[in-house]
Amino acid sequence: MAFEELLEDPVIQKYLHELVGPTGMPVAAAPPDGEVTDEELAEELGLELNDVRRALFILYENDLASYRRVRDEDSGWLTYLWTFQYDNIPENLEEEMYRLLEGLEQRESYEEDHQFYLCEVDSIRFEFEEAMEFGFECPECGSPLESMENSRLVEAMEWRIDQLREELNVEHDDAGAGA
Ligand SMILES: [Zn+2]
Repeated sequence: MAFEELLEDPVIQKYLHELVGPTGMPVAAAPPDGEVTDEELAEELGLELNDVRRALFILYENDLASYRRVRDEDSGWLTYLWTFQYDNIPENLEEEMYRLLEGLEQRESYEEDHQFYLCEVDSIRFEFEEAMEFGFECPECGSPLESMENSRLVEAMEWRIDQLREELNVEHDDAGAGA
């Protein structure tokens, strides 16, 4: 019953929820120990078979479930026997964090390398070159475009990036970015 401990972790709950959505969550949150069919799950959880299958397929795509097909000798029907593989969750989560970190780093350098101008009426942001093309007037409403300070945003991003690096034990190394 190691699954149960895993599932008490709110980070893992959130991860599963993002994967399968609210309708698939009963399936993802109650992994049986052994093999199970989609029909059994649907009946046990009181769910539509389609919702169960959808959730199982998403788990399968993310290496969190596998199946084997068995043909019933009497009826000739194929049955899918599913096994949950939640041991892969920590590894998946780490990959997610690496992706997040990479995205944040790219976004942060974009924010740092550009100067922005804002129309306060429409809340539209322009890069410097765009703003210059428009003569520092909003193309929508004609208001003057104001130079926009984004250092707070950059700081918040840096803070999150440092946090992620720490969690992942990644050295601060700009030369290695973008692999
Ligand atoms: Zn405007």
